[in-house]
Amino acid sequence: MSASSAGTTTRPTAYNWCRSQSWTPSAVVRPAGVEELASVVQQAAARGGRVKPIGAGHSFSPVAATDDVQLDLGTLTGLTGIDRQAGRVRVRAGTRLSALGPLLGAHGLALANMGDIDRQTLGGAISTSTHGTGLGHTGYSGMVTGLEILTADGRLRRVDAAHEPELFEAARVSLGALGVVTEVELAVCESFLLRAEERAEPIDETVARFRERSRTADHHEFYWFPGSGVGLTKLNTRLPLGSGLDPLPPLRTKVMDGLLANGAYELMCRLGAAVPRTVPVLNGIACRGLDQRTYTDVSYNVFVADRSVRFTEMEYAMPLEHFEEAFAGLREICAGMFRDGRGVSFPVEVRTAAADDVWLSTAHGRDSVYIAVHRYHREDPTDYFREVEDLFVSLGGRPHWGKMNTRDAAWAAQAYPHHADWCAVRDAVDPQRVFTNAYVDRLFGS
Ligand SMILES: Cc1cc2nc3c(=O)[nH]c(=O)nc-3n(C[C@H](O)[C@H](O)[C@H](O)COP(=O)(O)OP(=O)(O)OC[C@H]3O[C@@H](n4cnc5c(N)ncnc54)[C@H](O)[C@@H]3O)c2cc1C
Repeated sequence: MSASSAGTTTRPTAYNWCRSQSWTPSAVVRPAGVEELASVVQQAAARGGRVKPIGAGHSFSPVAATDDVQLDLGTLTGLTGIDRQAGRVRVRAGTRLSALGPLLGAHGLALANMGDIDRQTLGGAISTSTHGTGLGHTGYSGMVTGLEILTADGRLRRVDAAHEPELFEAARVSLGALGVVTEVELAVCESFLLRAEERAEPIDETVARFRERSRTADHHEFYWFPGSGVGLTKLNTRLPLGSGLDPLPPLRTKVMDGLLANGAYELMCRLGAAVPRTVPVLNGIACRGLDQRTYTDVSYNVFVADRSVRFTEMEYAMPLEHFEEAFAGLREICAGMFRDGRGVSFPVEVRTAAADDVWLSTAHGRDSVYIAVHRYHREDPTDYFREVEDLFVSLGGRPHWGKMNTRDAAWAAQAYPHHADWCAVRDAVDPQRVFTNAYVDRLFGS
């Protein structure tokens, strides 16, 4: 989606990362700076048009889609301020998370937690409530202590808990529907290392120990290939910087992450998509290829990985206490699909996050388990995702805003205690709906 420098281009079709969504913006504008950005927004508002920022295009849902002006914020990058004493930094919203790790590391600082990949922009990650794993940590939006946001009237507002607190709360997760976030103030911590222990074990043991491990480990997650009896667990322990590095040798990859970035696995997925009855055998082979690893590296090298085999994804956050019921129900759904010859080749991923107070955070008000289901990008995910979504919603689940879901505004109003507050802020700062799209309208009304 990005143009190489500031300017306007017309692009016939835009796609998200896995090409499951496509849309046709009337123009893609890459403003050189905040002044030009304000003028683009004001012009669109004056003609009754629409504007939609895009980050790295890594959402599975159509959250970044528009048929009017798409704003590429690729020029708004870099660190703009560091307050070591307060443990806070200011970062331009177009900065990729991949750049942020080394940028902070140069000052002895780090993000306390990260997700699976670092291709996203900071603005995109906070807008959809992106998260990693660990019950001692929130998602990215929970780390936000202040924001600079350009609203539909062309005003650049600096908001935090003391200045326009309602806009601040609403904009910490906004689906890009309240304005353009230009800069983010984040709480950060001292640089640290992570020791990763990855291993395969019987899935029943993984499930039985999930809650206890999630409480005792700094960061715990696991993967499960539907239909298999194997749980692939990952436990990350935080260590001080001086503890000594023991990184993976260049040709050895992380257990799961190596697989998901692997050409042979892509071929297996293709075969499974073409001949579904081969999937159980292929899943067994995929599990057998995964052995044990222990390594220690700087935090951002351990948190994130490559994902080059493309897939579609749906992920729901549920109250942690529903984990066992949710996972047992998912296993039943998968077993039924295998019985019907509709095997699922891509692994399920299970993570946690601490409760936070961000209005539209998927972990708002409750410690949460996140269960993510995937399908290889050449397979139709509809049946599988629908069955799993029904189950997860029945257990109080909330979908990741950047991943597939079929929720609507009536559902969102009862699932989020601050839904009406968020809508009131939207009415105040964007009465003309300059920043909306069909997806936002579905979830928050037009
Ligand atoms: C391979 C892969 C792995 C992933 N792993 C994880 C994971 O581990 N954890 C997790 O929680 N999610 C994960 N995701 C989902 C991903 O983190 C989110 O969808 C995220 O929003 C993508 O960031 P982006 O920069 O690509 O944003 P985009 O998809 O481009 O945009 C997302 C939303 O942010 C808005 N937006 C972007 N920039 C701004 C701005 N400056 N101001 C206002 N609004 C803005 C857009 O309008 C849009 O509404 C993954 C996705 C992929 C494809």
